[in-house]
Amino acid sequence: MDARVSAKIQSVFEEPACEHNQNKDEKARKKGCTKQLSPGAAAGGCAFDGAKIALQPIADVAHLVHGPIACEGNSWDNRNSSTSGPQLYRTGFTTDIGELDVIYGGEKRLFKSIREIIEKYDPPAVFVYQTCVTALIGDDIEAVCKRAAEKFGTPVVPVNAPGFVGPKNLGNKLGAEALLDYVIGTVEPEVTTPYDINIIGEYNLAGELWQVRPLLDALGIRVLACISGDGRYKEVAQSHRARAAMMVCSKSMINVARKMEDRYGIPFFEGSFYGIEDMSDTLRNLARLLVERGAPADLLARTEALIAVEEKRAWERIAVYRPRLEGKKVLLITGGVKSWSVVAALQEAGLEVVGTSVKKSTKEDKEKIKEIMGEDAHMIDDMTPREMFKMLREARADIMLSGGRSQFVALKAKMPWLDINQERHYAYAGYEGMVDLVREISKTLFNPMWELVRVPAPWDVPAVGEVC
Ligand code: SF4
Repeated sequence: MDARVSAKIQSVFEEPACEHNQNKDEKARKKGCTKQLSPGAAAGGCAFDGAKIALQPIADVAHLVHGPIACEGNSWDNRNSSTSGPQLYRTGFTTDIGELDVIYGGEKRLFKSIREIIEKYDPPAVFVYQTCVTALIGDDIEAVCKRAAEKFGTPVVPVNAPGFVGPKNLGNKLGAEALLDYVIGTVEPEVTTPYDINIIGEYNLAGELWQVRPLLDALGIRVLACISGDGRYKEVAQSHRARAAMMVCSKSMINVARKMEDRYGIPFFEGSFYGIEDMSDTLRNLARLLVERGAPADLLARTEALIAVEEKRAWERIAVYRPRLEGKKVLLITGGVKSWSVVAALQEAGLEVVGTSVKKSTKEDKEKIKEIMGEDAHMIDDMTPREMFKMLREARADIMLSGGRSQFVALKAKMPWLDINQERHYAYAGYEGMVDLVREISKTLFNPMWELVRVPAPWDVPAVGEVC
């Protein structure tokens, strides 16, 4: 493995702000968070895929994948990350290397591809992604990007996270390192205000950021940069001038938040947009940090006033669904903060949460579940598809909320299912998002299709007088 990539991986593993890492002993920490992947084991996403997921939402940048065409096919737009403007990020650029490039090297081809993109699209920057094959044949993407940037006068950013170095999560962090090394701090903003913030690790899936922005606008808080949802190259480049930052719960970019605090003195907190209580806490924390860094103190009172109005409105709108949803049982298979943050809203709508998965949850997440759902909360550590099927089939749950991977279990059991993970098409952030979630649950539960699919096929119904 390239010595630069090895060093980067080591520094990511030693991230002091990562609790998971800090809880390990010295030996385990050195070993890192990953095992070498065996062929086929990258099905959940390789490091390259993770880097692409983290950076592709920067919408005005050309994202060029240096490798065989299948790598781009594997990673292209596989999240529903939305943009309010440029569409360039959704164009699949790849060097599409072949056998001859493997023999003679793919660097010339990469250089030509960068030139072609700049001539045709004139983007503010080109991001170049390393992949397994081009890393194995020794293509030096850093050198090519440097030369291209000098020659064409456009920033060309190498993202060195070939698939074989580890899983998707590591790739998220390596992608973030490319921003720290080549982008953040390279442009000065025209104006700054005491209300400037960064949102880190938010990908604007299904447009969730847009459910939160109006709340920030109402408080006069300016998002200097969202890294990377609905992002623009220039915004990320000037994000070092923000007064405070929020790191979205997934921790996929904890290294960006922590290093920006070290380098530029931007304090950050970990928050979530999911759930009414969490949204309010996030607004409070943002206001507090900004005031601590010099924003006028009235921001705190204005924030409390906004929270009071928005919470009341959201609870009233959720309560409308109560008569319809009262007593319906929900199986929640997700992870992290979502394993508890949406529970309060579901309970308010009259739904009973019969189980929530805690596979990816931290100790604090589990404590929080107990607090909301009681000591005998049913926490599911790792449920096999067979157990899920049984639970749905025996009607111990009326609906399953989960990610796309387990959808077929629910559909096979002919039970309602709603996607709440990263591939979802509906946005569930902020106060508005919780109301939308309850509405979608109601629509899914009462979809007349379920009655129809449960009717036995005509050939399975014995004819009159026929013995089965
Ligand atoms: S980078 Fe490697 S593991 Fe990832 S898609 Fe390409 S070949 Fe597969």
